[in-house]
Amino acid sequence: MSHIFHRFPGNLPPVAVAGDGVFIIDKDGKRYLDASGGAAVSCLGHSNARVRDAIITQGQKLAFAHTSFFTSEPAEELAEFLVRRTPETLTKVHYVSGGSEAVETALKLARQYFVAKGEPKRGVIISRERSYHGATLGAVAISGNAWRRAPFEPLLFKSVQIAACYPYRGKQGNETDLDYGLRVANELEREILAREPGTVAAFVAETVVGATAGAVPPVEGYFKRIREICDQYGVLLILDEVMSGMGRTGSLFAFEQEGISPDIVTIAKGMGAGYQPIGAAICTQEIFDTINSDGGFAHGHTYLGHAIACAAALEVQKVIEDENLLENVRAVARYLSESLNERFGQHPNVGDIRGRGLFQAIELVEDRESKRPFQASRKLHAVIKKNAMQRGLMVYPTGGVADGKAGDHVLLAPPYIVTRGEVDIIVDRLASAV
Ligand code: PMP
Repeated sequence: MSHIFHRFPGNLPPVAVAGDGVFIIDKDGKRYLDASGGAAVSCLGHSNARVRDAIITQGQKLAFAHTSFFTSEPAEELAEFLVRRTPETLTKVHYVSGGSEAVETALKLARQYFVAKGEPKRGVIISRERSYHGATLGAVAISGNAWRRAPFEPLLFKSVQIAACYPYRGKQGNETDLDYGLRVANELEREILAREPGTVAAFVAETVVGATAGAVPPVEGYFKRIREICDQYGVLLILDEVMSGMGRTGSLFAFEQEGISPDIVTIAKGMGAGYQPIGAAICTQEIFDTINSDGGFAHGHTYLGHAIACAAALEVQKVIEDENLLENVRAVARYLSESLNERFGQHPNVGDIRGRGLFQAIELVEDRESKRPFQASRKLHAVIKKNAMQRGLMVYPTGGVADGKAGDHVLLAPPYIVTRGEVDIIVDRLASAV
């Protein structure tokens, strides 16, 4: 009997003991091709020797020095590395240990910025339906994910969720993508105008929606309009790139492909690539200076800027750069998309195949004609995941369209080192599992 709070009591998962590139190996020696990077985490694959050595080297020198006393070389170097590759307006890195902490940090940065700026009425956070921003209370409060919110409602601060941009289901009549994107973006303006002026602090969105909707990229024009609205009404734009950032979509940040830049971006997962728990909220100099002029940020976690975590994350980013892996992301992503379309495009239960970079999903529906999502009670996601695991394949089931419960999507987020040959194996095993 396990004493761990496993997600599936009575049905213990296999015991992972080793990693080898895109594979995880269990205690019985069975190899699983990690086609989901865990949950869009393991962008370098498993047991990378350079990252392992960086962890050992830093561990031999110093593991941890609390930030109320010290900074460390790896923390400084990593921040410099990130800022050099980030749009020039984003200059200050606040480290955390994971995605939820990054989102909490972003929300508190936004709030304290307005307090420090003398606009204390700005406290409303607007986010989107079918979004996931994390498991801590602040992150749950802004996530549009009904079943994850329900048990905790009395503990959550009030926030507002507007529609997300989801052309596959949201487009009306003969609307073009651009018309649709602008219409949905304008809902933000309507929501701001419906409130007392000067009360909205921030709008939060995943640049490419991950865990609740299955790799939905934004439509053209959507984020440009969102940026304009935020600027016009003095609202901060927070982009949550915990899943879609750090190269997953083919550029370091997914927002670079939208021609905009947020005031705060949150990152985690691919930042440490699973080698260490680490994340960050990166903000503008203005936010940093304003908060600092008012006594400094009233926030922080014990392990922020952990030296081993920073050394690992820095090496991860250097490997990606040295091995030109974002080029591989872009090239193999095209092949993955073609292969998925070829194999599943005509499947009677496939409603859509979409994504960006090595962040792609297949949407499963009752039938191709009605495109009705599967009923939650069928637990299709669990069945496909189990079938895939039996076949030595890891795919990530993501929440449904209908009520946030149905496993209507299979998310694929393989490591950036994945080859075309491995994509063939992924597609074969997935077809068999489906
Ligand atoms: N934001 C997004 C967009 C996510 O996908 C996730 C995790 N799936 C989180 C935040 C929370 O990250 P973590 O699980 O590391 O706390």
